[in-house]
Amino acid sequence: MGDKLLEVQNLHVSFKTYAGEIKAVRGISFDVEKGECVGIVGESGCGKSVTSQSIMRLLKVPPAVYKQGKILFEGKDLLALKEKDMRAIRGNQISMIFQDPMTSLNPTQKVGKQIMEVLVEHKKLSKKQAYKQAEQMLNLVAMSEPHKRMEQYPHEFSGGMRQRAMIAIALACHPKLMIADEPTTALDVTVQAQILELLQEVQKKVDMSIMLITHDLGVIAKMCDRVIVMYAGQIVEQGLVQEIFEHPTHPYTRGLLKAVPRMDMSRKNALNSIVGTPPDLFAPPKGCAFYARCEEAMKICEEHMPVIQEVGGTHKSACWLHHPMCPIKNRKEEA
Ligand code: SF4
Repeated sequence: MGDKLLEVQNLHVSFKTYAGEIKAVRGISFDVEKGECVGIVGESGCGKSVTSQSIMRLLKVPPAVYKQGKILFEGKDLLALKEKDMRAIRGNQISMIFQDPMTSLNPTQKVGKQIMEVLVEHKKLSKKQAYKQAEQMLNLVAMSEPHKRMEQYPHEFSGGMRQRAMIAIALACHPKLMIADEPTTALDVTVQAQILELLQEVQKKVDMSIMLITHDLGVIAKMCDRVIVMYAGQIVEQGLVQEIFEHPTHPYTRGLLKAVPRMDMSRKNALNSIVGTPPDLFAPPKGCAFYARCEEAMKICEEHMPVIQEVGGTHKSACWLHHPMCPIKNRKEEA
């Protein structure tokens, strides 16, 4: 077993609204080891971004409520920290990059100043030291003419350059963990590849862990050591990338993989999709959340939540099909 940097234990997060309580994250547990890249994948609304924002404690409380669970970072429960102590960790030991750098960067301030601010606040550097280090950070993220870029505003940058600037800000304090929430979704395909390569290079250089949130399995395959598949606020499958891609065991993961377009597909082949929609998280089903969409569902799936089963190596799946006494004769169509 490696060295655990982050441990999320039985986390439940809800949002209180006038219409009722949305149970956005429902009892998830996972860890991130030092130096590894863990991907969280799932469709919109599955709880992956709520998870990352919970780790950063960025959710507004209320309406958000941390109902249960712990988020241990180097053994310290982030959910129990005072905001003042959390501020010392956020942006310093754990940093985050978002999908749209234009909304994360301050449009009224020069890019250089925005990197310097992080260094002055967390590392207590003088302005002169911070300027020098900010320029080095722009150099680290392969920004051309870093000296000139220091004096420019975000609107003078292309989308790819803005994302590089965000990465420079996120890396400025040498965080132990970087959370990247759909970091390339808003970028052109060629720029996406450059940014992913940059993240990989930088991860090796500065020895940090990455938690990558995405709906794109191609990005997971390229970047990650391990993958966590989320559905309706729960983890349905997790394991090494190779384990999940070569032997997906959960019907939802299999559906996601079948939905990825392949180069060898003929134009006549229709793209596969998972029929139906995720359940209403105001009133999640008491059994398996994927029951209504699952072609392999059994009678038990509707009534009882599947327990997580180890299916080999580090590979785990929350599906009744993998229960050692799986009663195949009890399938839904036969019920
Ligand atoms: Fe399908 Fe049942 Fe497995 Fe859920 S527990 S994914 S319904 S087979």
